[in-house]
Amino acid sequence: MAISPPSGKKPNILIRAYHRLVGPNPTWQKVRQQLIEIIRHFRYNQRPSLAGKIPGLTPALEEILKRGTITIFEWPGDGYWIKEMPKGVGSTESISRRLSYYGQLLPEQNKEGERAAYLAAQKWREDQAVFPGTNIAGAKKILKKKIQRPYGITAGGKCSAGTLYLVIDILNLLPERVLKSKVLKCINLDGQYSTGAYFGDFENGYLGITSTIDRYLFTGYLLHELGHVVEEFLIKEGKQSEIDRLHNKFRSAGAIFVTDYLYHDKKYRKFYVSDPSEFVAENFFHFIIFGKEMLKGPHQDLRLELYELYAGLYMDPHFDAILALAV
Ligand SMILES: [Zn+2]
Repeated sequence: MAISPPSGKKPNILIRAYHRLVGPNPTWQKVRQQLIEIIRHFRYNQRPSLAGKIPGLTPALEEILKRGTITIFEWPGDGYWIKEMPKGVGSTESISRRLSYYGQLLPEQNKEGERAAYLAAQKWREDQAVFPGTNIAGAKKILKKKIQRPYGITAGGKCSAGTLYLVIDILNLLPERVLKSKVLKCINLDGQYSTGAYFGDFENGYLGITSTIDRYLFTGYLLHELGHVVEEFLIKEGKQSEIDRLHNKFRSAGAIFVTDYLYHDKKYRKFYVSDPSEFVAENFFHFIIFGKEMLKGPHQDLRLELYELYAGLYMDPHFDAILALAV
């Protein structure tokens, strides 16, 4: 259910509980509301389009902005260019030359159109990207209090207080046992990673993420990497053979349930989860997004087994991220 700001004299019990948790901190309230929306939008495939609302934003341009793989920048005196990330394929090219590859990016195919696309991309990023708030010291204090953790967080210049609140809320979606284990020891929010985010170096339990990307992608990347944290936890609990068994079962049934937050085609998604490690990470993200809703659809037995793999880690057998965030 949607959480609205307090109105009238008697806020309902849900809103009171929400304010008890988030407090009178407007930045955190905004971020919490945004996270609930992100999960809903992923769950029901309803991410709103800004094409038509931002001048110069064509549907094709919005599509690639959502994938997070390009930057449009101005080369003083030499027009507007696209830089492709994260894999560097194609590197830097003029927007016009990229047209055939990406489709209709520009509102008009001339210099004016290129400028409009550049401005639209900036506006889109402002709206979708980096989180609000400047009181990062206050956010760090809250983080220390709210997350009883055995690890440290690095958050420097590019990271906003809003980003930290989002991280707190997302970390709290992890099973408590996993959060308190020593699998995750260190989070770096200042990183620039070619893949957007990274979890590895298991001895040091290091997770890095680029915090200057849009909030949907940030949420997806972070939950995916936390899925690897969950995977590592399961392995330490002796569940590797169970993971392999389930993964093989999925492969032979040709079943894929993962949420497509990266806007990949089906073939690529299939390839991606053909690796057991990515299978666990992607499906953890899927579990957080869908909760019990993931039980609906074909392959009932597989759905139930996968659901139970994750839900079994929680104290609450009916864990649902939207409900967990709303109370
Ligand atoms: Zn991964």
